[in-house]
Amino acid sequence: MSAANSSLHRLGVAALSQAMAQGRITSVEATQALLADIGAHQGLGAFLAVNADAALAQARQADMHRAAGRSAALTGVPVAHKDIFATRFETSGLHTTAGSKMLAGYASPFDATVVARLQQAGMVTLGKLNCDEFAMGSANQNSAFGPARNPWDLQRVPGGSSGGSAAAVAARLVPAATGTDTGGSIRQPASFTGITGIKPTYGVCSRYGLVAFASSLDQAGPMARSAEDCALLLSAMSGFDERDATSAQRPAQDYTAQLLARRPGATAGQPLAGLRIGLPQEFFPVALSAGVAQAVRDALAELEKLGAVLVDVSLPRTELSIPVYYLIAPAEASSNLSRFDGVKFGHRASQYGDLEDMYKKTRAEGFGPEVQRRIMIGTYVLSHGYYDAYYLQAQKLRRMIADDFQAVFQQCDIIAGPVAPSVAWKLGDKADDPLQSYLADIFTLPASLAGLPGMSVPAGFAGAAEGDGAGMPVGLQLIGNYFDEGLLLHTAHALQQATDHHLRSPQAAARQAQEAT
Ligand code: GLN
Repeated sequence: MSAANSSLHRLGVAALSQAMAQGRITSVEATQALLADIGAHQGLGAFLAVNADAALAQARQADMHRAAGRSAALTGVPVAHKDIFATRFETSGLHTTAGSKMLAGYASPFDATVVARLQQAGMVTLGKLNCDEFAMGSANQNSAFGPARNPWDLQRVPGGSSGGSAAAVAARLVPAATGTDTGGSIRQPASFTGITGIKPTYGVCSRYGLVAFASSLDQAGPMARSAEDCALLLSAMSGFDERDATSAQRPAQDYTAQLLARRPGATAGQPLAGLRIGLPQEFFPVALSAGVAQAVRDALAELEKLGAVLVDVSLPRTELSIPVYYLIAPAEASSNLSRFDGVKFGHRASQYGDLEDMYKKTRAEGFGPEVQRRIMIGTYVLSHGYYDAYYLQAQKLRRMIADDFQAVFQQCDIIAGPVAPSVAWKLGDKADDPLQSYLADIFTLPASLAGLPGMSVPAGFAGAAEGDGAGMPVGLQLIGNYFDEGLLLHTAHALQQATDHHLRSPQAAARQAQEAT
């Protein structure tokens, strides 16, 4: 059959895997067709690099494994990686840039653990995805290689920092992608583009080979259409890694089994019977946009129908998570990014006087404005005399924010609320005002600071009350206690069995609009 004549290659992970198992499409056919789609959608700015030859070689091998009966769920399923994951250049032909001029053309000598594990699971690497420089941003507008766009409205941002990952998955250019989330970078772009993404508990996925931003917060996770697809990827990419000193020492998990496991008291109609979902009052402020509030309320009502019980709770330090995060993350970034000095990695100024001049020119040329701003803030708050007043204070509050969550988890099993206070904003908006962008992270930062797992699940689309943002996707955020990603995926899956928001694609929506006129 010819894949180009069908849209089988645009299926999600589980469905594509099944189609391959049934012989309806091969990995080579799917890979070729997706590469063609990627080529036709370059205006989206989702991909920074593709390597067709390497991808097709992997796909051929996957097809051989399938033919020989040696296949697993992910065999031959294409994936693409946020360009913050190191990909070994010699084998992949893909550079690792972290969205920065500093690392343009950088050839990594090794694969990140997450990349290597997905490859071992049989996935085909299509390429590298656009992101904010060093994962600093909420709109993918800080990439040195140009912005990525939102496939639901090309004049809007896809969110960030994993904006390329979100745009590619939402536009059906790849069944799934990897992302990283330091303060919301998986959840917020997933919400803005109507896909499903999960940031696991800190330590569940190895940080080895992840270009470091803020090491005590950075965490990798899958971004895909559904909870089912995320579970398949997370099972393969997670697990203890001796190369990451903060990796959690736990046995490998089968998240697909946890997704399907029957909860005590559950019935066919009420798979979530008895599940207590806490709604922090601070996550529903008056300033929440009307379209987001309505979609989130609708999704919560749906969860209630499935048997969940909604409980009012409070996370009193939610607002403080913004200053706390924007002190701790830049502090760690200023330390991590000191390695980019023009000596060992990446860019070096071509003309300079002495060594100090070389450092200065290299860093001034290589880093974009947002990265420079954070290095300055971070260096300041760590400096003698300010350390106690800012950094230490922020660390104390971080602990209290984590304790607040533990108090709330006495009253409920999971927490729910919006992912972001609005739908995706227009390209250029907030670009000149970093503070506005920082404030929009309010609902994702608390779970990051506490190290808790969080996910974004499509809740629906903003209605007319959202003004010109009507029709844009809205995500429901679910936050779990430590290592409860299985319960989050289970809850999201139950919601997705009862709703079809996650099945809607921008292309299908555009077709429908055209037919209606
Ligand atoms: N928007 C946040 C920031 O700019 C979070 C980014 C992230 O999670 N990588 O730091």
